[in-house]
Amino acid sequence: MTLAERARRVIPGGVNSGQRSIPGFTDLVIARTRGSRFWDQHGREFTDYHAAFGPAVLGHNDPDVAAATAEAGTTLALAGVGVTEAEVALAEELTALVPSLEKVLLTSTGSEATFHALRVARAATGRDLVVKFQGCYHGWHDAVSLNVISAPERVGTKDPTSTGILAPVLDATLVLPFNDPEAVRRVFAEHGRDIAAVILEPVPHNVGALLPTDTFLRTLREECTKAGTVLVFDEVITGFRHGLGGYQEICGITPDLTTLGKAIANGAPIGALGGRADLMDLFSTRPGGPAFFAGTYNGHPQVVAAALATLRKLREEPVHEHIYRLGARARDGLAALYRELDVPAVVTGFGSVFVTYFMDGPAPLTYDDLLANDAARFIGVRRALTDHGIFELPLNLKRSHVSYAHTDDDIDRLLEATAKAVRTVLAEGTPTDLAHTSTMGGAQR
Ligand code: PMP
Repeated sequence: MTLAERARRVIPGGVNSGQRSIPGFTDLVIARTRGSRFWDQHGREFTDYHAAFGPAVLGHNDPDVAAATAEAGTTLALAGVGVTEAEVALAEELTALVPSLEKVLLTSTGSEATFHALRVARAATGRDLVVKFQGCYHGWHDAVSLNVISAPERVGTKDPTSTGILAPVLDATLVLPFNDPEAVRRVFAEHGRDIAAVILEPVPHNVGALLPTDTFLRTLREECTKAGTVLVFDEVITGFRHGLGGYQEICGITPDLTTLGKAIANGAPIGALGGRADLMDLFSTRPGGPAFFAGTYNGHPQVVAAALATLRKLREEPVHEHIYRLGARARDGLAALYRELDVPAVVTGFGSVFVTYFMDGPAPLTYDDLLANDAARFIGVRRALTDHGIFELPLNLKRSHVSYAHTDDDIDRLLEATAKAVRTVLAEGTPTDLAHTSTMGGAQR
């Protein structure tokens, strides 16, 4: 029996997180990771642009992060009482770096951070409703597991990503199109006094990359301020990957609360929730307080050491300069390639993130725009890329990432391999199991 078969006998679906089991790659067993590469159990090497959905901004097993983690492990285990010097240092650093952060709490995952953001927003306002946007993913929990990427005709309908979610939770979640300031004004005109929070990925990377318009972000800030609604930027992907101050520093709009995760610690399990001190102070240290917050593993010494080492490297080395440059090279090179091959394609992204939608331009602004993407070709090209040792996740609308460990040679190889993969798909057509692939359905990661 293969390892993947053994996995399916004892692990539901054979994997430990949704969307790790990929059609066509259900027997993938990862044996080793290093820098820009991973290897499977058969020794096949892949240059990895999936990057575990984004955390590995420095590359897998960064030696400095690994050393800091190991050292912390020899001196300090989780005591689960009081605070450590490293936790204080990390909180000081996070609050100094990210504009909206006056105070910050650590979690183990991004989902916990978004859960607590909504909980404290409801505690602060005494209101129930939460507004989220099509194309944005904020975690697995009930409060945001609604209409992750609904089709336009299903906006406003109850379309949970899972059964088992209580109806009142679904009722309290309103879903709007991204980049639509009019829709924002309308929802506030109608429900303003009942909206506790607006939550968004400032760049919805869970559907590749929708770049926010300035008017949209400004409208959100204005309407939330007027209505006393808590504006939450979910920067679990954008934070630290796009810059030390997150996307909020880049766009110049400061939310009330920010959720962080992924790239903070280059892959160690950590999330964070921070923001206005008056909101964060509602988290009491006692059960029954205005908002309760806890977690056995929060602030785990090794994970905090990984975060401090990652942030140090992001500050002291030209990481962002490097990943932005390679990201731009990938986007420019791919756009030129598709022009040359006369394949309709929109190559977009931001900084180190790139994605090619197989559709005519201009760059998409809303999830509806993405319905024009040829999903079968999107997945077909990525499947073909694996034959050339390149791994971009072969699922529709997934983004790809460049890390500090990727090199110019890697980008050259990406461009050469993509040319070959696209020619194969053009010559052979997309596999029949992809012919009816919809852009709909399935949670984003
Ligand atoms: N927010 C965003 C924007 C995410 O992309 C994710 C995970 N992909 C989460 C929250 C949830 O984070 P986690 O998987 O660490 O719970």
